[in-house]
Amino acid sequence: MSEGQLTFFGGVARSGGVQVMYGKGNQALLFDFGVEHSSLLFPTQVTLYEPVNATPGRELRQFLLGGMTAPLLELYDPEQRKGLDEAKVLGVWGESEFPRYDQIHLYIGHMHTDHMALLPFAHPDLPVYMSHDSHALFRGMVAGGHSLDTKAKITVCDDLSVLDFGEFTVQVVEMDHNATGSSGIIIDDGTHKIAYTGDWRRQGKHPDRIDRFIELCRSKQIDVLITEGTRLTADPSTVPHQMTEETLLSRFNDLIGEAEGVVYLQISPRDLERMADMIAISASLGKKIVMDASLAAIWNAANREEVRRLNGHPALDIPVRILDATVTQDVAVSGETVSLEEVAEHKSEYVYFFKFPSLALLIELETLGNAQGRSIFIQSDYSVKIESPSISKFLKAFNITGHSLSNGGHAHPEALADLIGRIAPKAVITLHSKFPESQNTKGVHAYFPTKGETVKVSSILNSAASTVNG
Ligand SMILES: [Zn+2]
Ligand SMILES: [Zn+2]
Repeated sequence: MSEGQLTFFGGVARSGGVQVMYGKGNQALLFDFGVEHSSLLFPTQVTLYEPVNATPGRELRQFLLGGMTAPLLELYDPEQRKGLDEAKVLGVWGESEFPRYDQIHLYIGHMHTDHMALLPFAHPDLPVYMSHDSHALFRGMVAGGHSLDTKAKITVCDDLSVLDFGEFTVQVVEMDHNATGSSGIIIDDGTHKIAYTGDWRRQGKHPDRIDRFIELCRSKQIDVLITEGTRLTADPSTVPHQMTEETLLSRFNDLIGEAEGVVYLQISPRDLERMADMIAISASLGKKIVMDASLAAIWNAANREEVRRLNGHPALDIPVRILDATVTQDVAVSGETVSLEEVAEHKSEYVYFFKFPSLALLIELETLGNAQGRSIFIQSDYSVKIESPSISKFLKAFNITGHSLSNGGHAHPEALADLIGRIAPKAVITLHSKFPESQNTKGVHAYFPTKGETVKVSSILNSAASTVNG
């Protein structure tokens, strides 16, 4: 009789890049499809500061030969592989041997690059599953030039829906993280139940989603829990708590209320909910919204897919203007444009959502137009931090006050321990972390896989039993 087993391709003792394959009989599920943050290459992300990108057109070869993604060629678009052969790809993984399955399904939990960077290179026949809002966001990212498109067939899943792959079922459970549509999964093969949280946090707007996941896991009596542990350090007791989303938005409200000049806002466009809240708060204080063309493209294209989390949100009725200077050939312009001169002339009327590479436009915006009140710069969970010398020299040059309004997307170590303790699985695996061994598991047996390892679920549970007994 075939037994369920797990293979770990990424996310082991590293931040990001979770790639785990659960397989039983002839069916398998790979969950998440990104690359680790500390890999040789980090995929193009236009908001990032000087990433070392893969060579355009050769990305898949470089990810495969860099050992940065599962070496199973059936997952990938043969055209993008360009003749790269299997022996070379497997050679990168040394002695590791991998199970083979007739059908692999791919689940993508959320739209951060470290979980989805390989999606554009997926095989056209690979069945891909994701939540409705993750898909809406992906369409936005493609429209805004933040990701290449994919040829793979995507099946959009409702919250709490159950996919049946014969040998096992997979339930989709929406969570809370700073990428809209984030979800975890619960795998049930009739013998064992495995839960994967995806990236998650309690300090967001929806801690109730985390409680719901915990309750579902408790009622199903999870055997193996896989959680992220991004915020663990060598000494988790020293990790500071982050402000709640409510506090963050109320501080944003105060800053906008006091702003005299332009409000420059750097925010991750993958957190559509925070974008929506900040648009609505700004408009309620009489501000107009102007965005870089690529950010407006993400916002508009995602909302054309009707983001469920934003159902009825007041931001959907607020006009978003596009700064003319940011229109390029690569991005479809959808909406009214406004000239840079107009914004410079009426600084106090605008909140400008922009991405890091547009920093140079500050020179024009600050020096053109009649002298008006001081502008402010708000950095809200963005990959280029406010302390970055590239930003601080601009703020200094134009006498702009910088504010950081960030609370991250990941759970505090105490929240991690609380989740594990309440779910009380037979074993826990912490991925997406540089310090998985410092996890407080509340007495639950911790299993530490190695990269490339394949292990039977029953072996993980046996190792847990032997720890308890001995
Ligand atoms: Zn991640
Ligand atoms: Zn994430």
